[in-house]
Amino acid sequence: MFTYYLRCDAEKAREALDGDYKVVDLGGAVRVVESFVTLYAGGVPLCMYKSWRMTYTDYQIYGLAKAEVFVRKDGVLVRLVRADEKVGLPELVEGSPLVVHAMDVNENGVMYRVFRIGGYVELAARGVAGGIKEAFHPKKGVNLLIVDLPISPKFQHLLGEAFDLAREHFVELHTTMLSDVCPLCGGRMEKRGRLVRCPQCKVQLSRDVNAVWALARNIVRRLGREQQLAELREIFRLYYPNV
Ligand SMILES: [Zn+2]
Repeated sequence: MFTYYLRCDAEKAREALDGDYKVVDLGGAVRVVESFVTLYAGGVPLCMYKSWRMTYTDYQIYGLAKAEVFVRKDGVLVRLVRADEKVGLPELVEGSPLVVHAMDVNENGVMYRVFRIGGYVELAARGVAGGIKEAFHPKKGVNLLIVDLPISPKFQHLLGEAFDLAREHFVELHTTMLSDVCPLCGGRMEKRGRLVRCPQCKVQLSRDVNAVWALARNIVRRLGREQQLAELREIFRLYYPNV
């Protein structure tokens, strides 16, 4: 539900985990203290990630109980999940095709885009829906649902929908708007009312639409799927030919 990339000695991480991949209980090899996600080896912190969106309280709100740890070339991917949540981080990193459903939730409803990437590219859906379940149509492949959901009692039922879906599909939650990050270059965009504009790429579009693209870009990059990042940029150019 929350994926992080921790830079550290891969060999030491492999030793600590006794392999490349393991699901552990939170509080053991992986701990969340304040806003630090830390991997321990023999009781000693091996590497950590300071999250700007995760705090100790959030971790309790979401009922996170386990962590998936997958050793990569120069670090480890750590995914914090609930006890009943679908696990399979290696599948998420290496599976094909990867289907990314990215949704931005706000007062206007659920704004969503589906990117099917990994060998071929297809824009499968667009529009505004009333609920996450209504907007989510699983496709053939590895389905990753990314939701930008404000923490507020008003959106509580939508959080419940996301938890439901997480039992059978990969779900990633974001609680902070990334709407001012450029989907092409990753630079900071300028705010102009409900619009954002990148001074570098001259891209200008709605803040909500941009948040969806930025979320997809962020998680695909975090998973280390460089090839798919390039594809995502191409989809963006196809979809917004005039920017
Ligand atoms: Zn840009």
